[in-house]
Amino acid sequence: MPHFILETKRTTMQTLQTERGSVGTLLGLLVLIIALYVGHQLWLKHKGPRRLEVPTTASMSVEPAPQSTDLIDEQVHIELAPTPQPVQIPTSPYAAMLTDIGQMIEQGKLQEAQSKLQALPPDALSDMAIRLNVATLWNNLGVHQAQTAGTMGAGAFAYKTAVSINSRNSTAYMNMVLAYWELKDPGLTTEMLEEAMRVAPENAMPHLILAQRFIEKDELSNATTHLEHAKAHSVDSPQAQSFLNNQIAYIEKARKAEQNFHARDSSHFTVKYDGGEDYAVWTRVLEILEDAYRDIGQQLGHYPSKPILVVLHTRQSFHNATSGPAWSDGLYDPSLGRIKVPTQGALTDQAWLTRVLRHEFVHALLDDRLQGHRIPQWLNEGLAMQLAGDAPPDIPAFIRGEVALINLTHLEGSWGGLPAQYAMVAYLEGNSATRYLIDRYGMGTVRDLLDRLSKGEAFPAAFHDRVFITYDDFQRRWVDTLNLSLQGGRT
Ligand SMILES: [Zn+2]
Repeated sequence: MPHFILETKRTTMQTLQTERGSVGTLLGLLVLIIALYVGHQLWLKHKGPRRLEVPTTASMSVEPAPQSTDLIDEQVHIELAPTPQPVQIPTSPYAAMLTDIGQMIEQGKLQEAQSKLQALPPDALSDMAIRLNVATLWNNLGVHQAQTAGTMGAGAFAYKTAVSINSRNSTAYMNMVLAYWELKDPGLTTEMLEEAMRVAPENAMPHLILAQRFIEKDELSNATTHLEHAKAHSVDSPQAQSFLNNQIAYIEKARKAEQNFHARDSSHFTVKYDGGEDYAVWTRVLEILEDAYRDIGQQLGHYPSKPILVVLHTRQSFHNATSGPAWSDGLYDPSLGRIKVPTQGALTDQAWLTRVLRHEFVHALLDDRLQGHRIPQWLNEGLAMQLAGDAPPDIPAFIRGEVALINLTHLEGSWGGLPAQYAMVAYLEGNSATRYLIDRYGMGTVRDLLDRLSKGEAFPAAFHDRVFITYDDFQRRWVDTLNLSLQGGRT
């Protein structure tokens, strides 16, 4: 009878950094709640609970992808739709023209409608009733433009024009905010968000966006204040309230854990740390991080768009602050945008410290690079291990007997729920498959792949486009290579 084990050497195990995901990112939450708030169609695809497929076949093979995707995180798929408004055309010399424009918009003649709106003489807007209706038409034009393009941002110019004509049109104002937010337009200033709160005081969205900004600036108590406002505006949605309660509790926990910490900046990092610790650790950590910034940034062809926050904990406060499993070495927390690392005794094992910091920096860098889009977890972890330096050995080094690998498609979602023994297999596979990807196809291909993912392309399509073989073929070749290496090792 074949034996299915993936035995690991205890000493080598320590070279693996493992971590656990935190609560969902506020960005995802934002999209969810914005969709609830804008009050439009929302499709939630709830996957069933995560279930690990225990390998049952002999030899080193990859199981075919099953129909279900149990191991992939539940995903929230949302179609954002802006709000059109009813148009009531008053009696006026322009009434017929405005009615015509309204019909054009309904019929999808958007270019023509826009030209007509732009051609309206200024004196048309001197009549208040006309003015309000022209603003409404601009809003509705933006809505149809957004629907046609399938993206909120496509209506931005029209919403902005609507607001410039009637700044009290709360629908147009919120559509503008949503469009700017989707476009990541720098025009979405704090002043604009504050004005949105005045124009549409019952809307949770401006509070959510501001909360996210305060989190990015590490002003956690301000973030909580805005999340509390958002919660107060979410009484109609138990789902949003529950999300917000979890998020507030999570932020408060981090805030309390870090409240007496001191902060020190380098060019590209802010390192926070409990003043009782050894100052030398702080200095060493900044050096390691700045090296990582140059080296890993160059390899991935990307440098973070903002300073990265790194929080140094004692081992006890690390586990209290992260609720991480006992085997967790470090953590990148995407929801709060910070690296958390325990530093007790760090200077006595600088190789460990360097590896953990570089590993978590890769996660932070990829998070910044992907702009809220997803990367398969096996590749995320694989890149972190490969680029941290001192990556664990490839799978054949651990093999005793025969083993079935977990299909990579099962390792795309969060690994947070994996039992520790499967987590190890997952890390080894991520490391091995990523190593094969880099060795065989080069870092340039990896950079191209990340570029496609950052534009929202699905992984299998992006993979086929940039690696020029299918994801399935890649897995087969990778496993073939592992088997060759195994055979080679046994002769
Ligand atoms: Zn990791």
